[in-house]
Amino acid sequence: MTNLIPKNHPRAHSLYVRERLVNAFDDGLVAKEGLMAHGRGEAFDYLIGEKTSKSAKNAIKAAAFALVSAKHPVISVNGNIAGLCPREIIELSKVANAKIEINLFYANEKRKQTILKVLHKNGAKEILGVDKKNSTRISGLDSARRIVDRDGIYIADVVLVPLEDGDRTIALKKAGKKVITFDLNPLSRTAQTADITIVDNVVRGIRELIDACEKTQKKKLRNMPFDNKKNLAKSISEIRNYLTRRARIA
Ligand code: ATP
Ligand code: MG
Repeated sequence: MTNLIPKNHPRAHSLYVRERLVNAFDDGLVAKEGLMAHGRGEAFDYLIGEKTSKSAKNAIKAAAFALVSAKHPVISVNGNIAGLCPREIIELSKVANAKIEINLFYANEKRKQTILKVLHKNGAKEILGVDKKNSTRISGLDSARRIVDRDGIYIADVVLVPLEDGDRTIALKKAGKKVITFDLNPLSRTAQTADITIVDNVVRGIRELIDACEKTQKKKLRNMPFDNKKNLAKSISEIRNYLTRRARIA
């Protein structure tokens, strides 16, 4: 891996994450469109000050409760997620007792196998979405994109879809799933359609989600009321406040 980023660069971490994604693209994990999606994410990360906001922490608590108390929770994995945080996905699946399903928006068998290898290398045991015999369809999407695993998303009550496209999120909602997402853009269709939207960089937020799931399990925390629309409005006003502060400094 190339390492051209000086440690004291003010955006060292974001640039390091970008480099990881580019490497994941070179390794065949990430689609071209995934690189562009990452660029959109970076732009919004700038606008939230590259840190986990209060509203994101609220959403993380609600997401932890939803995952831990679900009957059939599933984590949907795409190329970007597999490239950015494979280990954390597996850790999260353990603490939340959730299944992992590879589910690609830009379906590609070779890329699926590459993602499978990376997940195995990072310690995953059971991975759904790879056995064609076990696939079925959900309605409301065009052919390639509606294929899901019979033992995974198809029967799931709660699905975590980090960095997901709006059409798919809407289809999952129509299929009766509770949808949790990580999406840095609070205005995207996914962010607006999901039940719980964590407006944070998944690279930061997933660690907090793992910790929150552990806490929720151990302390048997009760559910707190959570209104996604209100929380999204809060995250937009956090952006506004951050920009106002920055404008004063500039
Ligand atoms: P939508 O289809 O929901 O309207 P879109 O078409 O703009 O959104 P997609 O490519 O479909 O975007 O979905 C990817 C989403 O993931 C984008 O909203 C992008 O901001 C977000 N994103 C990209 N990288 C990250 C990241 N590292 N952490 C969190 N969110 C991210
Ligand atoms: Mg989209």
